[in-house]
This record gives sequence, structure tokens and C-alpha cells, in this order.
Amino acid sequence: MNKNEILRVAANEFAEKTHKLSSPLEIAIIGSVAGNDPYPNDLDLVIIIRNLEEIAAVAKYARQMSRHYHGWEVFLFDENVSIIGRICHRKKCPGQSVDCSVPGCGEPPHLRVHSDFKYQEKIFFNSPIDVLWTSFKTSRLLEHKDELGITESRRYPVLEDIKIKCVLCGKIFLFTASEQKWYKKQGFSPPKRCPDCIERERIKGLRNW
Ligand SMILES: [Zn+2]
Ligand SMILES: [Zn+2]
Repeated sequence: MNKNEILRVAANEFAEKTHKLSSPLEIAIIGSVAGNDPYPNDLDLVIIIRNLEEIAAVAKYARQMSRHYHGWEVFLFDENVSIIGRICHRKKCPGQSVDCSVPGCGEPPHLRVHSDFKYQEKIFFNSPIDVLWTSFKTSRLLEHKDELGITESRRYPVLEDIKIKCVLCGKIFLFTASEQKWYKKQGFSPPKRCPDCIERERIKGLRNW
């Protein structure tokens, strides 16, 4: 599984539990994961919520995503799609942790309201949105995007698999999109040898990895 797939597993588990509560009205992924970036930096989720009565449960389900990955954010919006705040990562919020020392964290409990986060609506919604669940006839978030006049979302590089001819054996091998992204991230140039030849060299001790 690439990182995008892992983050989607985390998001789906969260949505599966959260939509059974009575206050959530819509749950979606926003940003690079929704845009199918194979190696996104973080997982951003949006919930439209009727009220904050079940916020402790929502926060708990959000923290359970840390089993998969710590870099998540859950943004809460009211029925008018106005931002309420983000979920604090701490179990006890407000609390003594550094996280909660940020002004505005824990008022109300489990939520941080703005403080260190400058919300810019048009930039926020100029992102791909993947609706996981909605109680509305049509997605309220996508509707809001239309209301803002955003017709096209920010794009994430979509690479295609490419074929490379091995310099040693001449065999054609696939250099997949996710491998390309990983190589780029590591600062490596594309491979010249096929996986079989690399393995053969490794066994012969020509490479130590
Ligand atoms: Zn907090
Ligand atoms: Zn080869």
C-alpha cells in the first residue's frame, strides 16, 4: 500500500465510526489525499456538525487514526459551512500539554479555534474534496465550493508509470508512479537497472543494500 492508501484506510475507519453519531452531517477528505497524491504529507478531514454535544467521541475517533498516522487534522464546520475549529490531538483537552498551551485550545474542550491557524476560505476550498458520507441529498461541501465560484481544484502531480530498459540485461521494467515520487523525494535519479539485476548485484555483494 502506498501512503495515500494507508491514510484512506484511517479516514474510512474514522468515517465509519463517526457517521453513526447523531450530530455529524457530512464527512469528507480534503486536500492531497483526496487529490490522489501517492505520498501526501498529511491527512485532512472535514466534518459538518449540527452541534458539539458529541465532540468528545468525535475527538476520540480522530485520535484513533494515529494508529495509522499521526499527521491528521479534523476541521469542524457548522451547518452554514462556517469553520468552528480543529480537533486537538490530546486526550485531555484543555490540559497541561504543550499542544493545549496554544491560546484557544480547549475552549470548547477538544477543539482549538483559530489561534495558530489562519483560515482562508477560498484557499481551503480550492482543494479536491472526497465525500465519505453525507446526510444531505447532495454534498454540502461541494455545494459550498460552487457557491464560492471555485470550478477547478488545486492539482497534485499525477505521474504515470514509465518503462525503462535495463542497461545490464536489456529487459524492460516498470518504474511506477509511486516509485517515481519516492525517488524524487529521496533525491535519487531514476533506476538504470531492473529489479532482478539489482538483486543479482546485491547477492554478489556488489551492493550493500
Ligand atoms: Zn488541546
Ligand atoms: Zn536487468
